[in-house]
Amino acid sequence: MSALFAWPDGVLDRRRVTRCALARICGACEQPLGRPIVFLGTSREQHRNEFHSPPLHERCAGPVRELLGGDCVEVRTAGFEYVRPGREDADPLPRFVPNSVLA
Ligand SMILES: [Zn+2]
Repeated sequence: MSALFAWPDGVLDRRRVTRCALARICGACEQPLGRPIVFLGTSREQHRNEFHSPPLHERCAGPVRELLGGDCVEVRTAGFEYVRPGREDADPLPRFVPNSVLA
């Protein structure tokens, strides 16, 4: 398995996550995103509709799912917003908000 761009050494790298957001590239293969865009996360992240892991191609989600473990949920969307936390924010990490979730 080739290395996952945003998870060098198997741990999410925050600078690379930011790069994925700003350059709109895949968190696994580092290539430009198309549609749909896939986010993997916890059911809690799904309920908030805020994901900490970077966007992925559908075809790249498999290896990331393996890394994150079997209980992660998958959301497909046509687009997303990148939200940086405010000073008073309870969640200090930037996150991705899918804005047109696909069935
Ligand atoms: Zn990819």
